[in-house]
Amino acid sequence: MRAPSGVCAGVSRSAQTIAAIATPRGRGAVGIVRVSGQDLRSLVRALLGTLPEPRRAVLSTFRDAQGQMLDQGLAVYFPAPHSFTGEDVLELQGHGGVVVMDRLLERVLGLGARMARPGEFSERAFLNDKIDLAQAEAIADLIDSQTREAARSALRSLRGEFSDTINALVDGLTELRILVEAALDFPDEEVDQLADGELLDRATKLKARLCAIFDLARQGSLLREGMRLVIAGRPNVGKSTLLNRLAGHEATIVTEIPGTTRDVLRLEIELEGMPVHVIDTAGLRASTDPVEAEGIRRAWAEMAQADLILLVHDLTTEAGEEDRHIEASLPPQVARLRVWNKVDRISRRPVPEAGDILLSAKTGEGLDLLRSRLKARMGYHEDGEGVFMARRRHLTALSAARAHMAVAAELLGSQREGELVAEELRLAQQALGEITGAISSDELLGRIFSSFCIGK
Ligand code: GDP
Repeated sequence: MRAPSGVCAGVSRSAQTIAAIATPRGRGAVGIVRVSGQDLRSLVRALLGTLPEPRRAVLSTFRDAQGQMLDQGLAVYFPAPHSFTGEDVLELQGHGGVVVMDRLLERVLGLGARMARPGEFSERAFLNDKIDLAQAEAIADLIDSQTREAARSALRSLRGEFSDTINALVDGLTELRILVEAALDFPDEEVDQLADGELLDRATKLKARLCAIFDLARQGSLLREGMRLVIAGRPNVGKSTLLNRLAGHEATIVTEIPGTTRDVLRLEIELEGMPVHVIDTAGLRASTDPVEAEGIRRAWAEMAQADLILLVHDLTTEAGEEDRHIEASLPPQVARLRVWNKVDRISRRPVPEAGDILLSAKTGEGLDLLRSRLKARMGYHEDGEGVFMARRRHLTALSAARAHMAVAAELLGSQREGELVAEELRLAQQALGEITGAISSDELLGRIFSSFCIGK
């Protein structure tokens, strides 16, 4: 159902009628042809012989140009503006055979429609203000969902929960901007007004709200796009064995010679249908071997880009200077999970620190706990409350907004430079506007909609 690459939706309001087969190609009980245009009345009359009552399923005969029957099925006519696209829409539910559907589509094209591009129905719904951009994306995400959890989050975004949250933030920002701009308009009182604790209070609350929403969106994005999990630790602690365990087959070479994994190994695994991109890295230690040193450099580079670092320690060796050095050098912005491996080899088990996991990659002990922790990190909750199905571009926008908001709050805190505060707030608002499409470029819209299914 994915659009072929290179088919790109241009974005412009179009008077042209579009049509597509909206159901998957192949045999099926029912197949649907969907048509949208500014005025479909003559097309509908030519095809059905009459104009059906709006928004009612009417048993109809679909006819070709000679008046011969093409198929019989249900027709639903949605006159503008009360339709998915906001234009006149006709849905024809016929028999789901390839030939029947092709002939029906050909007939509609013969009546002046052209083939819809991927995502063009949704694009028109967006351009006609029926849905915003985050909702349009949620439609595609819902269709592409691989798990119940992903589907639930997508549905929440589609219903507008994500957009409402963003819009509430934008409203809060607008109010704050008005207050700051007002202070700028009366320069004599500027300092007094900017020093007003209320402005700082509002800015701080908005910043906190942005951070909370970013976290929920980040979890949602992990559900959709998967988590980059980097397995790291000193040589020989059992990283490759653990990777094999997680993967459920022999994916890497496990040996007793330290430094076997000299490059970065990547593997895709699934947890409850959620994608995890696992990356096994070279053991971290000081090395004079240039190949190994390069592997270690790559390991650090991978860690900096990870969603989560799985830091493996070996219970059978003393945690030494090197372990402490590794822990202290981990990228501070990346979450980490510490596992203590080879628990099968020690007789007296230590009590792990809160959040740490005792594990045996060899026997599999502790692996269920590890898997459930990983699922939790990806936003997997049985009830899935509050998580929004977000895309990377939403996260980028949210994080930009958060950064501008932080600078604005800081400036307000030190009662400095009202103009800069105003500018930072404006930039924060602009970043949020990109999420719902209040502010968007044609190029961005083209990129988003071209990845949709045809007929959607
Ligand atoms: P890496 O260098 O960190 O990737 O470590 P490997 O996965 O290659 O493992 C190093 C050695 O430790 C191998 O001989 C493994 O069989 C062994 N090993 C790994 N995990 C465990 C474990 O949980 N228990 C025991 N007893 N041995 C393990």
